[in-house]
Amino acid sequence: MPVLVNVEGQLVPPEQATVSVFDRGFLYGDSVYEVARTYGGRPFELGRHLDRMDRSADRIGLTLPPRERIEGEIQRTLDAARNPESYVRIVVTRGEGRFGLSPHLAQGMSRMFVIVRPLEPAPREQYEKGLQVAVTLTRRNPTACLDPSLKTGNYMNNILALREAHAAGADDALLLDLRGQVTEASTSNVFFVQKGIVVTPPLALGMLQGVTRTVVLEVARGEGLIVREEPFGPEALAAADEVFVTSTIREVMPVTSLVLLGGAAPDVRRIGDRKQGPVTRRLHEAFRKYVARTHGA
Ligand code: PMP
Repeated sequence: MPVLVNVEGQLVPPEQATVSVFDRGFLYGDSVYEVARTYGGRPFELGRHLDRMDRSADRIGLTLPPRERIEGEIQRTLDAARNPESYVRIVVTRGEGRFGLSPHLAQGMSRMFVIVRPLEPAPREQYEKGLQVAVTLTRRNPTACLDPSLKTGNYMNNILALREAHAAGADDALLLDLRGQVTEASTSNVFFVQKGIVVTPPLALGMLQGVTRTVVLEVARGEGLIVREEPFGPEALAAADEVFVTSTIREVMPVTSLVLLGGAAPDVRRIGDRKQGPVTRRLHEAFRKYVARTHGA
């Protein structure tokens, strides 16, 4: 069964996977979630994903089920779905209670869902030709408003940016903070390479601490590359030798053109020679080696 949903411990096909309209996840985005994937059938870096979910839940005062139960339900769903490789989405909502915004109205009964789907990796050609990414006018939520390091069900900031990017014909959105510094893409972290040095924005600007970002930083250092976490603006990306984004599903994906919005007409900038650059390729290979080492895949 390719798509299988675990609704509070019950394994059901997608058409039977329903949630109450009174669930606070549905009403307010009052939930946390993670997206993991498998290699060789086993979830990749599940510990880091669940640590991040712990941090998100902690910050919004939501009680997660015990770690062993979460892990057990994920495994049970993967075993039953039997896909060669799976996308795994784990969602925990604050559940429901008396109607109203106050989180105290929830009756302390969080709800957990696990959605398992066959993994749909990006086509191989995409890794050669890369993505076009638009720097949107929609800015990333400031940390003092809705901290982007929290992976909650409230993704409207990212959705609005993505709408803007798609309207400009780009594949993805790149969001700046209120000071005009690059933060992250709609569901990926961003890096650039200049004269062999790898640069990515520091977490303190307000972004998700991507699991792939962390692994890529580790393998880049392992490769002996100089890595810096420092703020920069979109012009630094436009002038870079290489740009790439990282995420669980995309791994290490080149960005080969940038669209700067806000002027009279979209300003399209080519990056490097418009194909996967050598450092991006090397880091993607090093990432794959890390996967092979840790997962035997
Ligand atoms: N930023 C955002 C906003 C995301 O939603 C994601 C996807 N979870 C990422 C970055 C990349 O994180 P990861 O490498 O853990 O998939």
